[in-house]
Amino acid sequence: MSAFKFRVAICGGGISGLCLAVALSRCPNIQVDIYEATDRFKEIGAGVMIWARTWKILEQMGLGPAFSKIAHSPPDGSIGTGFDFRRSDQPQEGFRFRLVQMPYGCIRFYRVDFLDSFVDALPPNVAHFGMRLVSYSQETDAGDISLQFSDGTTTTCNLLAGCDGIKSSIRAQLYTEVSQRSGNADLLKYIDPVWTGTIAYRGLIPVDRLPPSHRSIANPMMYCGKSKHVVSYSISRGDIINVVTFASEPKKQGNSYSDAWVTHCPQQELLDCYASWEPEVRQLLSQIENPTKWAIYHLRPLPFFVDGKIALLGDACHAMAPHEGAGAGQAIEVCNFTVSDQGRLMRPKDAFILASLLEQVTSLETLPLALEAYQRVRLPFSNHVLKGSFDSGLMYEFNSDYGEDYENLGPAIEKQWDWVEEPSPKEERLRALWYLKELEHVASRS
Ligand SMILES: Cc1cc2nc3c(=O)[nH]c(=O)nc-3n(C[C@H](O)[C@H](O)[C@H](O)COP(=O)(O)OP(=O)(O)OC[C@H]3O[C@@H](n4cnc5c(N)ncnc54)[C@H](O)[C@@H]3O)c2cc1C
Repeated sequence: MSAFKFRVAICGGGISGLCLAVALSRCPNIQVDIYEATDRFKEIGAGVMIWARTWKILEQMGLGPAFSKIAHSPPDGSIGTGFDFRRSDQPQEGFRFRLVQMPYGCIRFYRVDFLDSFVDALPPNVAHFGMRLVSYSQETDAGDISLQFSDGTTTTCNLLAGCDGIKSSIRAQLYTEVSQRSGNADLLKYIDPVWTGTIAYRGLIPVDRLPPSHRSIANPMMYCGKSKHVVSYSISRGDIINVVTFASEPKKQGNSYSDAWVTHCPQQELLDCYASWEPEVRQLLSQIENPTKWAIYHLRPLPFFVDGKIALLGDACHAMAPHEGAGAGQAIEVCNFTVSDQGRLMRPKDAFILASLLEQVTSLETLPLALEAYQRVRLPFSNHVLKGSFDSGLMYEFNSDYGEDYENLGPAIEKQWDWVEEPSPKEERLRALWYLKELEHVASRS
């Protein structure tokens, strides 16, 4: 490998930006800087879940012990509950219609702890706060990318990673520029997120406010009803129960939403929404004193994530409805570990999918090829999960073609998580490297 070294600027310090920064900071040929618009890295006070696939990637990054300490319990690979599905939209006791189980089950965290574990793994002098990117220019005289920030400062880099979330300004500029270049105005429709027709209420409950027999303490629960569902699971070593409830108007999918994306709301609004549900749901919701209300948006599946030396990652390119607990996990997959070009397994702490692809780069001219290989692997996969997450919401709320046919609905719901196993992260990383070799070969012949 040559002594060639290049600079990556990551814009956005959420889960995707931080995970990528940790991965790239271990590549000797890369100088990484992360620019965050706000004054610190922060997450909301709520839960986040991941599945075996993401857990294995965290372990390969050498982060297993740190994340193990903050999980609801240390993940050990044994069969665990994904979700316990119940019919719950009636005043009397409901019933289970499916128990989804899988190795590791659903692994749960308090979001603040989750983000902090990445922050702790970040080397010093990589993070820059109060740096809101307003625009970039790809064509500088030196072949660099120039970045312009809202405080008037500028800097340059060789590769820009857009990790700036669902409202990504980098996605907006990228799609506008490609649309103008290609004369394809249809591309502009991918810029704005789309309301799913669903709103969510969120809250946290100290576990001692619930009776010890409450099902939410033992297992992740999915209480289902017509056009509504309620998710609950324990986090923080079981001390806290995280609750997210959903209420949908399927016909409004794609309409504009009139209120702010996130607001506080009176507890009574939440209680009224589920007033006729089974007792244990009402008991749960009565303990949420200050719920927040969220409009749930997602992106149309994007046709590309990359333009030249700009790549979109995380919610910036595949923001999805949260019904499979997958958005953050998909962002982390970008940092999947990989193998060297001789086919040997590399030391885990040195190897990640994008980092590994970028590690192969020996000149600025071949940088776009690495991004193209990243896109070829990650775009179909994450778009599949994006579409599946929306469909899962329809299933939980009896609005899919399966309706209330529990016998077929249960297995269909379980199948929605097939992506957790197949294709494996190992297959994905091999494909990414193979694509890069192929692209380099084609480029060298033209
Ligand atoms: C109700 C709900 C529940 C969810 N539950 C789960 C779950 O259980 N499991 C799961 O895997 N996923 C879940 N998700 C999805 C998950 O939260 C997101 O996919 C993930 O947090 C996205 O991370 P990100 O880093 O891409 O974006 P963000 O977290 O949005 O981070 C973007 C960062 O970029 C910064 N930024 C923005 N613009 C600029 C700019 N111009 N310049 C510089 N910085 C900028 C922002 O300040 C922010 O720090 C859920 C989502 C919702 C709404």
